[in-house]
Amino acid sequence: MTQTLLLLPGDGIGPEVIAEARRVAEIVAPDLAFQTGLVGGASIDANGEPLTVETLVMAKSSDAVLLGAVGGAKWVDVERNLRPEMGLLQLRKGMDVFANLRPAFCFPALVDASTLKREHVEGLDIMIVRELTSGVYFGEPRGIERGIGEKSFGFETSRYTAGEIERVTRVAFDIARGRQGRVCSTEKSNVMESGLFWRETVTALHAEEGIGVELSHMYADACAMELVRAPTQFDTILAGNLFGDILSDAAAMLTGSIGMLPSASLGKEGTPGLYEPVHGSAPDIAGQGRANPCATILSLEMALRWSLGRPEVADRVFSAVGKALENGARTADLGGSLSTSQMTDAIVAEL
Ligand code: NAD
Repeated sequence: MTQTLLLLPGDGIGPEVIAEARRVAEIVAPDLAFQTGLVGGASIDANGEPLTVETLVMAKSSDAVLLGAVGGAKWVDVERNLRPEMGLLQLRKGMDVFANLRPAFCFPALVDASTLKREHVEGLDIMIVRELTSGVYFGEPRGIERGIGEKSFGFETSRYTAGEIERVTRVAFDIARGRQGRVCSTEKSNVMESGLFWRETVTALHAEEGIGVELSHMYADACAMELVRAPTQFDTILAGNLFGDILSDAAAMLTGSIGMLPSASLGKEGTPGLYEPVHGSAPDIAGQGRANPCATILSLEMALRWSLGRPEVADRVFSAVGKALENGARTADLGGSLSTSQMTDAIVAEL
């Protein structure tokens, strides 16, 4: 059966980088069928809302979704729940993608682009698996109690069910088995009940289903320190929503430019994943042909691997990006002068 990749270019540099990823996809997977839809500001302009039911239906019935980026100054004054970014949140929620994969990989050619010294990032290859749909960002009750003077307060609830922890832990175990087999689970079990429950649940699941996986635990604050002290000690890091958000941003920056960082968000087995670069719509360079397409091309690589069942094609794309960099191909964010499409030309040449 033909597999379908839904492209959601979005706003700003989104359409520019998605067009380049499509060029690569057409070469390495010519049998793929493409669909295109609107999300974010582009959807607000056309439909009055950042994500339509029709687009969500298309996403859920595709095999994978590749999204560019959303947002921009044009939509800043739009009502909060109709902002471009809401389209992304609705898409993640609607597709029920609960495991966010953020690799922090340092391409040998970019070792000197990191803010850390070469000896600390050489060989860096971490996968952060972050729970995406629960925890303190979504827990109820939450709110702000105003009008009681100094006693006014803001609050939220950090809450995880056993099922929510288990399903993302299973993903981390699976991912680790295809890597070095080591999972470091992070939380704050020293000061948070939900953290203690997280640790107990991960430990119990490991005893039942953890064959081939070496499990360790680390407090999230200690992990943040270790990430900048000796990052190459990690293989797969597992975290809840809040700590995963912070740790994945810190780890990502070890690798150099934001223009190099892909991500994947996965749901239940057999459902489509959502793939997107970590960067935003970069309004400051949109329309200038200066965006680095690598983050989106590497997001396509993750889609080929995790949703489309084509690991050898994914390997080809990954090594073509690495070789293009080795041969000196660089966009402006990496200190070079190649345009968005010239960077893709260099990658295509390696395919
Ligand atoms: P941003 O990631 O868009 O840009 C930050 C900086 O990185 C800018 O200087 C930009 O030029 C540069 N940059 C980003 N991607 C690049 C690429 N591929 N190549 C070269 N340089 C690149 O973040 P921001 O400026 O904080 O946000 C801009 C807009 O994007 C906002 O509306 C924000 O809400 C939105 N945003 C969207 C997403 C998303 O769609 N997932 C993520 C973050 C921000």
